[in-house]
Parts: sequence; C-alpha cells; structure tokens
Amino acid sequence: MADGAGSNWAGNIVFSADRVHRPGTLDALRTIVAGSPRVRVLGSGHSFNRIADTDGALVSLAGLPRTVDVDTAAGTVRVGGGVRYAELARKVHAQGLALHNMASLPHISVAGSVATGTHGSGDGAGSLATAVRAVELLTADGDPLTLDREKDGERFAGSVVALGALGVVTSLTLDLVPAFEMRQSVRTGLPLAVLEEHFDAITSAAYSVSLFTDWRAPRFGQVWLKRLAGPAPDSPEPDFPWAARATEAMHPVPGMAATHCTEQHGVPGPWHARLPHFRAEFTPSNGSELQSEYLVPRQHGVAALRAVAELGTVMAPVLQVCEVRTVAADGLWLSPAEGRDTVALHFTWIKDTAAVVPVIRRLEAALDGLDARPHWGKVFTTAPAELRGRYPRMADFLALRGSLDPAGKFTNNFLRRLLFED
Ligand SMILES: Cc1cc2nc3c(=O)[nH]c(=O)nc-3n(C[C@H](O)[C@H](O)[C@H](O)COP(=O)(O)OP(=O)(O)OC[C@H]3O[C@@H](n4cnc5c(N)ncnc54)[C@H](O)[C@@H]3O)c2cc1C
Repeated sequence: MADGAGSNWAGNIVFSADRVHRPGTLDALRTIVAGSPRVRVLGSGHSFNRIADTDGALVSLAGLPRTVDVDTAAGTVRVGGGVRYAELARKVHAQGLALHNMASLPHISVAGSVATGTHGSGDGAGSLATAVRAVELLTADGDPLTLDREKDGERFAGSVVALGALGVVTSLTLDLVPAFEMRQSVRTGLPLAVLEEHFDAITSAAYSVSLFTDWRAPRFGQVWLKRLAGPAPDSPEPDFPWAARATEAMHPVPGMAATHCTEQHGVPGPWHARLPHFRAEFTPSNGSELQSEYLVPRQHGVAALRAVAELGTVMAPVLQVCEVRTVAADGLWLSPAEGRDTVALHFTWIKDTAAVVPVIRRLEAALDGLDARPHWGKVFTTAPAELRGRYPRMADFLALRGSLDPAGKFTNNFLRRLLFED
C-alpha cells in the first residue's frame, strides 16, 4: 500500500485504499468505474464507520463540476454527486427557494447524506432523502441509469437510501419549497418526567425540536426550538411552558462556547442559517468525537428514553451529549424512518473507541425489543441478521442490488457483513 487514502473526518477510520481517485470529468469517472473490480465513493467523510471504505478504487467526486441547477418553475434542483449542503443551500436560497430540512452540520455532502438516511428534526419533516425525486447513477459497467420517483416507483424507493451499494450517484434531483425565515431559541432544564408526560406537545412545539442531555440526571439541559418566523418582526416566542428561556447563547455540549452555533434568541434569519445547529462559515476539518444513533418507532420513544436514562452512570465517562430528535415516516426501503414516525436518539461520545464500544453494547441491549435501527453512518454493533430483520423491505433491496450489481462491485466488506452474514 502506497500513500494511503487518509482517514474520515473523525480520524477513527483509516481507509484501506492506497489512494483516492479524483476524476475531473464524468468520462474519467466512468472509466474508473468500468475498469475497477471494486469501487466506493467517498463523500465528505463524515461517517464514523467503514461504510465508505474499500480496498479497491476509492473515488471522490469533489473534482467534478459542482452542478447546482435550480429549476424555479418546477421548484427543484439537480445537484452533483460531490456537492455539500452549505453550497447547495446558498445557491437555492439565492433563487428564493429552500430545502425542507437540514442536518446539524451543513458541511456534509448531499449524496453521502442521502445514502445513509441522514436527517434533521421535526415531527412533520422527513429525512433529507425524502426530498429526492430522481437519482442518476453510474452502474457497474460505467453506464448511466436514472431512477425517477414518478416513473420508477418501487425501484426508486430502493435506490435513494442505498448505502452506495447500487452505483456511483452522479446527481440527485431534489424537491424545493419556497424560501422561509426561521427563529431559533433555546430553553433550559426540562425534566424527563415532563417530557414523558407531554411528549407530543413538546416535539411539535416548533417546526424542528431537538432535546439535549448528558444523562447525568433525568433532565434535558437544553431544548432547541426552530420555528417558522411569522411575518411580524416581533412575533412572539413559542408557547413553551415546560422549561425556562436561555439567557445566553448555548452550545449543545455543556461548557463549550457557542461561537460556532447558529444564531439563537429568536433572531429571524434564513432557513439555512437556522436549521443546522452549526454555522456554515465554521468549517471543522476534523472532530474529536464518535457518534452513534438509534431510531425507534415513535410509539417506543418514551420507553427508549426511560431505558437510556437507566444507563446514565454507565455512559457518563464517555458521553459528551445525547440529542433526541423526531423524523417523519417515509417509504424509502433502507431509510431508518421507513414505515414509521420516528424518535432518534443520538449520542456524541468521546473519541476513544475502546472505551465507547462496551457502552454502545450496553445501550443496544437496553434498547432491545424496541425495534431500534442504528444510523447507517455511525458506530453500532447490532448483529447483521437482527439489523436486516428490522427492515421489512430488506429482501427487496438485496434483489435490487443483485440485479444492478450482480458481481458486488459496490459492496465493500462493511456492507457484505451487514447484508449477508449473521
Ligand atoms: C459533525 C457531524 C454531524 C452530523 N450530523 C448529523 C445529523 O444531524 N443527522 C444525521 O442523520 N447524521 C448526521 N451525521 C452523520 C452524517 O450525516 C452521515 O454519516 C453522512 O452519511 C455523511 O455524509 P458524507 O458525505 O460525509 O458521507 P461519507 O461518510 O463520505 O459516505 C457515506 C456513504 O455514502 C456513500 N456515498 C457518498 N457519496 C456517494 C455518491 N456520490 N454515490 C454513491 N455513494 C456515495 C459512501 O460510499 C458511504 O457509503 C453527522 C456527522 C458528523 C461528523
């Protein structure tokens, strides 16, 4: 192995490939795909496991033209496979349009986020993948294939959250909505018992609600409310009688400065500067953390929170912060929100795999029986057969993968284990 392809954003994964290919044209990409026995695309490298890894050709699309073609009449955008959300959001907003939701960090690539079912929060907001209306792929022989929501119904539903296993996504067409203004405000000190009692009222108190806790006590230190701004400049704070208003700007991790966080205190601003928790201008090149996340059916949300609360002292030495969000159900076969409104329990750990993994196992045991689907891009130890059993459309996905990529060119060791082993 020569130089090595480097590591992911967190630095916990060193990629197995000896280099990263960075084609500058679609033809060059096609030649790499057609000529390599094994291929994976590296997005922006923000996953925490080996999902993007390969010992074959690791390909970055960052050198391809950064297509962002907004169709204002249709309310859609066609976005290239290497583009990140921050850039996409800026260009879409300039045309008076918006994405329906964003993740906490705007620096992640669109195709890589869609591939793993990345989501924000909001009772009525589907994952970022639900905005996709067409997927353009290069399949194993380097030929282009377009799957369209209107024309390819079933196959389309399997091809959006596809873990990079069907081919190289060269562009995605996304639905847009009219641009909107938002206000973000933070509340502090919400007891778990109050959340349990008023769960639906609390998670629906704003367009997007995130609850943060370090589980050192059964309470949420912070609640972030992202609401649609009314037309009046002084439109009132949302009615939220369960927790006090924050008096200063806050970072989700207790004790960290809020400099890099998006504007709070109800100051109105564009959707793309309020939906993410972190500012686009702040570009973290790497991170001192690991992440895990489990997505449970909404009806199990409170039970999951109770189970996790029991592990407070077990988690304390390795947990930086836990975030609870909601995601609307969708019909995308491998989406963690497939077929069910969802409560997502996210964990930001310290960057110490050896110390964190035993805690993750305890957590997964505590969530046993609650049909928890781990985030595809984060750290988990769920047994492959169990994981597959939590996706009713898994057999359909495997058949689709088998028909589009019979030789498994796009199936790396990480996926081979998850998709085929016990
Ligand atoms: C600080 C931080 C904050 C995060 N916040 C959130 C959050 O709010 N919500 C959430 O759900 N997740 C979150 N994540 C997780 C992150 O969104 C996912 O791991 C996402 O997949 C990362 O996208 P990426 O482009 O970096 O993908 P990579 O890690 O580079 O790749 C992910 C997968 O997509 C595939 N892929 C990438 N591009 C293509 C392509 N063009 N064609 C085919 N396959 C492709 C890769 O092969 C790989 O399988 C966060 C991660 C970090 C580090």
